[in-house]
Amino acid sequence: MKKISIDLGDITKLNVDAIVNAANSSLLGGGGVDGAIHRAAGPELVAECRTLHGCRTGEAKITKGYRLPAKYVIHTVGPIYSGSREDPVLLGNCYRNSLSLAKENHLHSIAFSAISTGVYGYPLEEATAVAVKTVTEWLDAHPDYDMTVIFSCFSQRVENAYRKELGD
Ligand code: ADP
Repeated sequence: MKKISIDLGDITKLNVDAIVNAANSSLLGGGGVDGAIHRAAGPELVAECRTLHGCRTGEAKITKGYRLPAKYVIHTVGPIYSGSREDPVLLGNCYRNSLSLAKENHLHSIAFSAISTGVYGYPLEEATAVAVKTVTEWLDAHPDYDMTVIFSCFSQRVENAYRKELGD
């Protein structure tokens, strides 16, 4: 069975154990996918987020999903693209730390938004390469753990980038 798949559509509709939010460091909501997740989850989400006292770039924190079909939300903060060598390291940390946090919580399905590729300005092809490489390496490093990964693509352009990177 394939462990990685692509979904074209809105991440807030996905019925998975966890969806990964491209949050900002305050964790108190924002635009883009973050705003969509908070709107769909309801006000209980920001209330729980307030108890977490923010999140550093590359790190990940977990909350419940409230009114979402997803049971949990993993909030990670992508790097604001700068063109430095740190960018892919920090972006890779987002994917790796989110997967490890999901495993610690005994979760088995996770859907990622295309972290940093919106207002944070990460070039789509480069970000997609980091996402696919990091997730593939994590899955290879945990062969005995059942984890299904979905890359949630909000546009055809994003979907095309993932299809190209995954070679399907
Ligand atoms: P960042 O600040 O990390 O760049 P954005 O939310 O601006 O985060 O964008 C990240 C990605 O999320 C973009 O590719 C954007 O198209 C996508 N996106 C926006 N809304 C949704 C949604 N409802 N479901 C899935 N992806 C979304």
